[in-house]
Amino acid sequence: MGAAVMSKSARARLRAHDRRECAMVEKFVSNISAKRIIVLTRLILDALCDPDLVSKVTDSLALAAGTVSGDIETKRQCFVCCQPWTADRAPIGLMTVEIIGVRPRQALITLICNWCGTSTEDIAEGVAKGLERDLGCKRETAQFIHDPIEAD
Ligand SMILES: [Zn+2]
Repeated sequence: MGAAVMSKSARARLRAHDRRECAMVEKFVSNISAKRIIVLTRLILDALCDPDLVSKVTDSLALAAGTVSGDIETKRQCFVCCQPWTADRAPIGLMTVEIIGVRPRQALITLICNWCGTSTEDIAEGVAKGLERDLGCKRETAQFIHDPIEAD
C-alpha cells in the first residue's frame, strides 16, 4: 500500500464521524450496565449484505482505514485483542451488541481482526472478555446468537 492520500474535506468528514461515534459509544456504554444484551458476531462480508448495517459497517471500515493512515485522531482497534488496525491486522469480523427492549433500537458495532477472527481460540470467549472489559457486561447478561467467524 502506498501513502494514503485523503483530501482535506474527506479527512474532516472522517474526523467528525470519529468524534460522533466516540460520543455514541460513550452514551451506549452508560446505558448498558446490568441490561440484557444480544451479541452477534459474523463476517464483515456477510454484514455488508445486510441493508440495515451496510452504512454503519462501511463507516467503521473507514475509521479502521483512518487509523492505519493516521487520518483520524483516535486509534481504532480490534474489540477482542485491542491492537490498533494496521495493514497486517485488518478487520475481518463484525460484532453487534444490542440492548434488549430499548426503543429506539441501540446497537453498537465493532470490528474484530483477522488474527482473532481466525485463531483457534474460542472467539466467543474473547468477545465475552471484551464485553466485560469495555462495557462492564457480565456474560450472564449476554445472549450470543451467532458465531460464524470460527475457522472450519
Ligand atoms: Zn484482534
